[in-house]
Amino acid sequence: EKNILKLKDIKKSYPVSSGILSLSKATVKAVNGVSFEVIRGETLGLVGESGCGKSTLARLLTGLESPDSGTLLFRDKEYKDWSTSQRGTMIQMVFQDPYSSLNPRQRIGSIISEGMRINKTGSTKEITKRVEELLIQVGLRPEYSKRYPHEFSGGQRQRVAIARAIAMNPDLIVCDEPVSALDVSVQAQVLNLLKNIQKEFSLSYVFISHDLSVVSHISDRVAVMYLGKIMEIAKTEDLYKNPLHPYTRILLDAVPIPDPTLQRENINIPEDMPNPISPPSGCPFNPRCPKAIDICSSSKPELVETESGHSVYCHLY
Ligand code: SF4
Ligand code: MG
Repeated sequence: EKNILKLKDIKKSYPVSSGILSLSKATVKAVNGVSFEVIRGETLGLVGESGCGKSTLARLLTGLESPDSGTLLFRDKEYKDWSTSQRGTMIQMVFQDPYSSLNPRQRIGSIISEGMRINKTGSTKEITKRVEELLIQVGLRPEYSKRYPHEFSGGQRQRVAIARAIAMNPDLIVCDEPVSALDVSVQAQVLNLLKNIQKEFSLSYVFISHDLSVVSHISDRVAVMYLGKIMEIAKTEDLYKNPLHPYTRILLDAVPIPDPTLQRENINIPEDMPNPISPPSGCPFNPRCPKAIDICSSSKPELVETESGHSVYCHLY
């Protein structure tokens, strides 16, 4: 099988309270018709500003939420038809915050081995041995298994989270902003660890970030997301050499050098992100788009493939 994961027209809305007294009900279309595939061994980067729906998408991919509509296939089978323990052997997640994602009262060894213990993958002795191997694989010492999360730095904790994610030999790891809470000096180390582990285990990643420079450093392909929709998807090199969508161009202008060790300036886009409760009609980017034409505020574009593997959601194409 070539595709690990296939999404077709996935939608997810949330009810939210709006207004000062929270009396009126509204919905946010957090993910509003997203389709893409993830191929075995590749990294698909998913980039967008906060509120674009990328974290909701991560929760859908890891089964923490179910889509309202659309198809989510894992290894050509509907995701909802896999059992929870089967899912754990297929998809794992590394979260943004290594401080809140590890239980402070659990020893490192117990955190890493949790899935193996639940799925009874071996005897206690075998699991202990495996935990030590995993710690070595992520660049930590085997004796750390007896320690607690508070004894470690953010970067070390993220290594523990990576060890936990690979413990079940998954096909895919969803990484949601895995380095954005870390010191700039350790970001590159954690990214390199993810790359090395990927090669060793033929893993696929969905790598989520607001930072296009981090995403492009690690991704084979990049999908640009805005207000619940994919605006452009292409091979990383094509996206850099030939960005088509006006939003992608603005993001790229804010990223002069693809180097994750450099801090980003705030992205300079005219106007604020629209309120996702009442998104603009037509193209969702039209109030901020420097290239907008008449049709943009009334009619929604379609995602069109302009060349092989390069698609864009914009009336100009
Ligand atoms: Fe801009 Fe119109 Fe393209 Fe949307 S469809 S990105 S508003 S040009
Ligand atoms: Mg987020």
